[in-house]
Amino acid sequence: MIKDDYRHKGLRKQMVEELATKGITDRVVLGAIEKVPRHIFMDSAFVELAYQNKAFPIGAGQTISHPFTVAFQSSLLQVAPGEKILEIGTGSGYQTSVLLELGARVYSIERQKYLFDKTRMILNKLGYDPYLSYGDGFKGLPGFAPFDKIIVTCGAPFLPQALLKQLTIGGRMVIPVEEEGKLIMKVIDRVEENDYVQMDFGEFRFVPMLEKRQGS
Ligand code: SAH
Repeated sequence: MIKDDYRHKGLRKQMVEELATKGITDRVVLGAIEKVPRHIFMDSAFVELAYQNKAFPIGAGQTISHPFTVAFQSSLLQVAPGEKILEIGTGSGYQTSVLLELGARVYSIERQKYLFDKTRMILNKLGYDPYLSYGDGFKGLPGFAPFDKIIVTCGAPFLPQALLKQLTIGGRMVIPVEEEGKLIMKVIDRVEENDYVQMDFGEFRFVPMLEKRQGS
């Protein structure tokens, strides 16, 4: 049963206010975050903690992203309604839902079978309808490319070339990439066929981006 009562809504409003004081200024992103019932994406033991500004375990050794990280990456993506977005690392489906609330058409890849199955059910119950793929995010989804935007929600050891090629000209990728042992948030704009412009946005924490599907 999906329960999203006045108490959950109140906690969510507080969380959004906290995100605003921490520097998230994009009102459209904050509005989308206020709509998504984060507690539904978390294991029942943590429901009470769903609206604290923290990352939490979601099973299979993975975590639901930190709300600040979700807000920050969503802001950097500058989503326009109707845009086609590829997400790497479906995980809990929370970031996926925020993108859908922003009006995007979302394609998302997850490499863990357990999470792929579990999250598909949760998103379905909530009435969200992204295209979900059980596969390897390093490869992207060439059959559905190009994408207006790409968001990577796990820490990449390097910039995956296949993903850069699946961006539209004028498209943007937001991805945490390892540099000297730290994960640096990067925005990469594809300005021409073979011309990419890169910007850095500070250090973040993510579970690692790993190759190949697991648990089929
Ligand atoms: N967006 C998610 C973040 C979950 S953590 C959320 O809001 O909850 C990152 C996820 O990336 C994990 O579920 C992990 O299994 C997945 N992942 C790691 N490497 C991957 C890869 N190569 N391809 C697809 N998913 C990957």
